[in-house]
Amino acid sequence: MPARNILVINCGSSSIKFALVNEAQATFPLQGLAECIGTAEAVIHFESAAGKESVKVPNADHQAALAQILPRVEDAAGGHLDGIGHRVVHGGEKFFASTLLTDETLASIEANIQLAPLHNPANLSGIHAAINLFPELPQVGVFDTAFHQTMPPHAYRYAIPGFLYEEHGVRRYGFHGTSLRFVSRRAAEMTGLPVENSGWLVAHLGNGCSTCAVQNGESRDTSMGLTPLEGLVMGTRSGDVDPSLHYFLNRTLGWDLAKIDNLLNKESGLKGLSGLSNDMRTLADARNAGHPGAVLAFEVFCYRLAKSLAAMSCGLDSLDGLVFTGGIGENSAAVRQRTLGHLKLLGFKLDDAANARCTRGVSGEIQAEGSRRILVVPTNEERQIALDTLALLDA
Ligand code: ADP
Repeated sequence: MPARNILVINCGSSSIKFALVNEAQATFPLQGLAECIGTAEAVIHFESAAGKESVKVPNADHQAALAQILPRVEDAAGGHLDGIGHRVVHGGEKFFASTLLTDETLASIEANIQLAPLHNPANLSGIHAAINLFPELPQVGVFDTAFHQTMPPHAYRYAIPGFLYEEHGVRRYGFHGTSLRFVSRRAAEMTGLPVENSGWLVAHLGNGCSTCAVQNGESRDTSMGLTPLEGLVMGTRSGDVDPSLHYFLNRTLGWDLAKIDNLLNKESGLKGLSGLSNDMRTLADARNAGHPGAVLAFEVFCYRLAKSLAAMSCGLDSLDGLVFTGGIGENSAAVRQRTLGHLKLLGFKLDDAANARCTRGVSGEIQAEGSRRILVVPTNEERQIALDTLALLDA
């Protein structure tokens, strides 16, 4: 059987990220991004071994953009595409694994819209467009939340009256599950430990950030909650604040809920603390130049991350190591060093040279002798989505 090709699609409200994954090739034959969908500036960027190209598609909606993308994908796949894997943000309590998309499963995703009112409708428009264009191809949904459905109630319940959970689904769900699943399995492979008998603390640090306790291949706890706002300091999200902050801002400044929600999601985190940028690269340079806001943002980011990892250890039966991933986790030796400086009591000690070596896609173990394992593991959500799609095709 020739190596199979899966198209992976991640649809946002005005963007489509896509990658063609061939099961036998380490790199993607074709990948790209459609941006500004639904506006006069809509454009698709393609990237392959042949180079980069951008194509303007003024006013294209999701379906029109996908119609432009698909012939190139088929071409790059040698005319043979085997399936399509879709990233879906919220699977609620219904989806604890990836699933074939059928009328029934699509209805369940629709039913979760109130849990992810910005993300799930965008994911669904990509799915419907792909089904319209390729009705005969198997299509699979891969959920950010599914990996965390193994959390026990003491980790996922909020201490609020029960009817809010029972009647309205108010609980902690967690996100980044596809990445956390991929890197925790890779960490087990890299260290020769059986995934079904190992315990890991994982920090996924990108624009969104979360930690996770992974025991025997299952999520036992994670820092994000009902929404991706809970937990760590992120690029523009505050992470945890006193829940009474809403009431305080309303009472003292007269702000309404929409304004407070925007503040906590879009204007806070590294951006709000530094007053400079949400981007860790910019902040690293500014911190080196002594910018007080950048110094503070970096310190709060690392301390809160360490505190969250220590808290996550409560979810584990055993601790084999700590895994860093995501743009910041994979690249920032400074963040790793500062964070681990707060975690000495958990038995972590860094090898500075190994830490400096692991950037730009270089993976490896970075602990000093006598320390518990510390790993840098590049994530690959597209690969994981393709693997899930292939597994469902085989089943
Ligand atoms: P997303 O969550 O959107 O997928 P990424 O995983 O690409 O984001 O992570 C983006 C973050 O990674 C940004 O804050 C960026 O500054 C940071 N980052 C990327 N490269 C480096 C680097 N060399 N040093 C520090 N931070 C980096």
